[in-house]
Amino acid sequence: MPHRLTEANVLEVWEDGLGSNPAARSLLLASVAAPAGQSVADLPLSAVNSLLLEMRCGAFGDALPCTADCPACGDSLDVTVAVGELRPGEAGGGTGEGGAVPATGTLTAYGMTVTYRALTGRDVRDVDPTAPRARQALLRRCVVDVSPPADDLPDEVLEQVARRLPGLDPGADTVLTLNCPQCGHCWEAALDIADHLWTDVSGYAHRLLHEVHALARAYGWSEADVLSISPTRRHFYLEASTG
Ligand SMILES: [Zn+2]
Repeated sequence: MPHRLTEANVLEVWEDGLGSNPAARSLLLASVAAPAGQSVADLPLSAVNSLLLEMRCGAFGDALPCTADCPACGDSLDVTVAVGELRPGEAGGGTGEGGAVPATGTLTAYGMTVTYRALTGRDVRDVDPTAPRARQALLRRCVVDVSPPADDLPDEVLEQVARRLPGLDPGADTVLTLNCPQCGHCWEAALDIADHLWTDVSGYAHRLLHEVHALARAYGWSEADVLSISPTRRHFYLEASTG
């Protein structure tokens, strides 16, 4: 796959993403942004987010319109976020090049020494969030070693792992600081960059399909014919055919 979103691949990416759940879709989009041949599933979430933010900037620009409801007064807030400012500062990997390998940590509890790592896209994709004990299943995947060996870890140990994960991979969650102009309340809201990007990709694919439809109908061209024409020429023909 090419490592950016283009007219040539957007329809394919959109079609692939249609049948996917959000976690799989996030990895699909990140794989388009990744250097050719790089597998994204085992990257820490911060590195996946970096790829998504880079792709958003490159394909749709730096301004990301968002809406949020103020938790204090309920007022609806429209903000435009600069995507560049959302970039995770330090990627989650301590040992890999550019944060490509999830960082690890250790903790001691219940007489056990537990080694854990940051969450990857594969972890999130492969755990069904609606399954019973999905949270524990996700956390269990972060545990890479238990000494002395134990098959069952108490939930409390897993929760201790959970509390340490944000420190291990600070860019795993993209967070916005928002200020309510009505009541002055200040809060942090999570921003799902993959979800925003998917909305953009869907919009782009739909615009392109509408252009194919209009030109195919006006001139009898095939889809491949229309897509082989540069956007500038296509827009000329679109205007000419409706004018
Ligand atoms: Zn408010």
